[in-house]
Amino acid sequence: MDEKKTESRAPWSAWTQASNSSRPGASCRVIAHLDLDAFFAAVEESRDPSLRGKPVIVGGGERGVVATANYEARRYGVHSAMPIRTARTLCPHGVFLPGHHDLYRDYSRRLMSLLATYSPLVEQVSLDEAYVDLTGTERLFGPPEMTARLIQKRVKEELGLSISVGLASNKLVAKVASDYEKPAGFTVVPCGREAEFLAPLAVQRLPGVGPALLRQLRSWGVATIGDLARVPLRTLELSLGEWGEALACRARGEDANPVTPGQIVKSISREHTFETDVFDPRLLESTLIALTEDVCRRLRQSALEARTVTIKIRYANFATHTCSHTLSHPTDVDEAFFREVRALFHRHWRKSSCLRLVGVGLSNLAPRAGQDDLFDQELPLLRELDLKVDAIREKYGKNAVRRGATLSDQ
Ligand SMILES: [Mg+2]
Repeated sequence: MDEKKTESRAPWSAWTQASNSSRPGASCRVIAHLDLDAFFAAVEESRDPSLRGKPVIVGGGERGVVATANYEARRYGVHSAMPIRTARTLCPHGVFLPGHHDLYRDYSRRLMSLLATYSPLVEQVSLDEAYVDLTGTERLFGPPEMTARLIQKRVKEELGLSISVGLASNKLVAKVASDYEKPAGFTVVPCGREAEFLAPLAVQRLPGVGPALLRQLRSWGVATIGDLARVPLRTLELSLGEWGEALACRARGEDANPVTPGQIVKSISREHTFETDVFDPRLLESTLIALTEDVCRRLRQSALEARTVTIKIRYANFATHTCSHTLSHPTDVDEAFFREVRALFHRHWRKSSCLRLVGVGLSNLAPRAGQDDLFDQELPLLRELDLKVDAIREKYGKNAVRRGATLSDQ
């Protein structure tokens, strides 16, 4: 938040004047990134107008953390992921609400169907965020800038929610643009001026620059994205490897990733056939846990959450059984599924019968809500652990880190 004050800020609001003229012959894509402002709190305000103008903090219980704070609450220093207790100290007169998950999902669905009326290429990133490729929609709806304005107006009128919009020639710059003037922002970066737009912004605004990288960049004297763009490629490559080149491209505002409408993944599953039939409960259980880890990792890679977990067991005689359990809230955290997998297994396995195959599947999938797991105090920590393990496995192979529970698998 603070870096906004130190950045030099110019208005960016028109697409047509400079685009294409600066790069003659260049055919640019037109991509909008849309992000609802303080989503959960805004839904609560829209349901109960008496909350307007008051600091509203949505989050779970006294031992939970803040999921969303509205802009009034942010003025007191309250922010997402902060313990509710701290938020109460900072803002004792705030309105603290437990939140309504189903309602937020419902609003999210309405937003996505509204967006889908403007382009077939809508990529939902989380409950309150999406990319829309508006390239070639001029003939139907007029200039993309007008279309984006119209979407913003309709979201306000039909959903009662404020949304920020960034319009640019690629996803990376559109995302930074939607965050440029939040809330209710409308920022347009003309084609060909991406690097110029990014240059004065604080380097941590660039997606992918996390705390560790930020420390390193600062030690080189890099404060803005423009500073980063001037670091010789060789220097970046030497200290960051392949990621160095990707980072250099980002600093110049280049991004070739297309808007990909959500692949309709219905389920993610994995199974394991034993070389010889098995009746050792410890081996069966540890195999199921390893499979659960694997499907959860794939879930996280796809930025999805699941509610239903299914196990499959096949006896030596090929008789096959599946059984499922559905959680009250969707999640992508390993630990949340382990207990259910174990319970399902012990409830359904005919003890002393050999198994030739076990499998685990996740279904009832939805894009990751991003903030939902903040309702539970433990889940964010477990999730962080899962992500660290994912990263280590990505780098050093699947067996680089193993849970105690899966060791008998060897
Ligand atoms: Mg948002």
